Amino acid sequence: MSTKVVKFGGSSLADANQFIKVANIIGSDPSRKYVVPSAPGKRYPKDTKVTDMLYACYDVAARGGDFSEMFEEIVARYMGIIRDLGLRIEDTLVRELSTIRMSFLARAGRDYAASRGEYLNGIILAKYLGFEFIDAAEVIFFGEDGKLKLKETCHAVKERLSGVEHAVIPGFYGSMPNDTVKTFSRGGSDITGAIVAAAVSADLYENWTDISGYLVCDPRIVPDPEPVKVITYRELRELAYMGAQVFHEDAIFPVRQAGIPINIRNTNRPEDEGTMIVENAEEDTSPFIITGIAGKKGFVTVTIEKDMMNSELGFGRKVLEAFEDHGISFEHMPSGIDTMSVVVHKDEFEAKEPEILKEIRSSCSPDKIEIDRDVALLAVVGRGMKSQRGTAARIFAALAHAKVNVKMIDQGSSELNVIVGVQGEDFETSVKAVYDIFVTQKL
Ligand code: ASP
Repeated sequence: MSTKVVKFGGSSLADANQFIKVANIIGSDPSRKYVVPSAPGKRYPKDTKVTDMLYACYDVAARGGDFSEMFEEIVARYMGIIRDLGLRIEDTLVRELSTIRMSFLARAGRDYAASRGEYLNGIILAKYLGFEFIDAAEVIFFGEDGKLKLKETCHAVKERLSGVEHAVIPGFYGSMPNDTVKTFSRGGSDITGAIVAAAVSADLYENWTDISGYLVCDPRIVPDPEPVKVITYRELRELAYMGAQVFHEDAIFPVRQAGIPINIRNTNRPEDEGTMIVENAEEDTSPFIITGIAGKKGFVTVTIEKDMMNSELGFGRKVLEAFEDHGISFEHMPSGIDTMSVVVHKDEFEAKEPEILKEIRSSCSPDKIEIDRDVALLAVVGRGMKSQRGTAARIFAALAHAKVNVKMIDQGSSELNVIVGVQGEDFETSVKAVYDIFVTQKL
């Protein structure tokens, strides 16, 4: 039988009703053997995630303040879940919660505090499903430098799970060499799921959340955009970098390396196929030439002009050095014969602007420096674009029709993406125009 590792996000386990959906999903497929839960998330838009409650509560405790009331709210979230599920594990929960309260008093650390969200949810879910509970601190290891020890961890997870038919392993945390608890960065339960999947050589890593996978573009810009059925890791990387966030980026590495596909699914709509993330996909697995459109506002273009720049050896290096010296990494660097532009994040750049400009002036003696402070970048990504004639022409025709002025163009040599720079206020119009031509009109 195949093995699936299934990770459920916070909104999938926010209350008893969600637990019931999760149990139905797991029960409907016997290959869903190992389950990685997040902490209870938001039940409604203005609600607070348990992880955030734990951080806030611990901060008060660490300052020596009275955290009883905040702690009671956390207790109430868990007690509410077991009561509504009809699970008779009050005693276990009360015992665990009192250990946690004592550890808060003993200043056990913010990571420990936050990790209890997943830990307690894992205990409840394991009881509810009748699966074995395995504390992530026993099997997920960080080194002295705070980095995950992937090899040792995979080995430990594999050993621990051998002969275990079904288990719940809480997400988000592991242990340091001195046995203290350490968490991954926020959203890190995705990483735990990926590690478990890699360790047991799963056939599939299912990541259950509250949306049916990736959409071709942001639904706040285009209402009800088409879903992305299949996306490659490389396409995902391009889109995630430009702002399309569903899945924690660091979670890709362990499963990609092991050749395990990821399926993003919706706990509230289990009938939807979701998005498959794979290493390679045939070009014809996508109904459209493009896979996705993403982008961000808030960039600045610094254009440096100098007569005969092209023949001046080391000019580009000196310009980039001025940014590097002040800790600013650049996004793109389109250039002309006597001009060179550097695209950077506005907030990062503006904090260091006078120093950077001073350095460019003294090391490069430019004729002119021009700054455009309102640039949005749009990434049009798709494996189907490779060797397709006219894709770029269609993008620019669509933008021209929409009366958008293109400020910058950059096509990666992989032909996987085209990056376009536009005026900030034209961003939404640009996304709509590109969506319309490739997806609505299927050109
Ligand atoms: N509960 C953690 C967070 O809110 C980890 C996760 O949900 O993946 O970031």
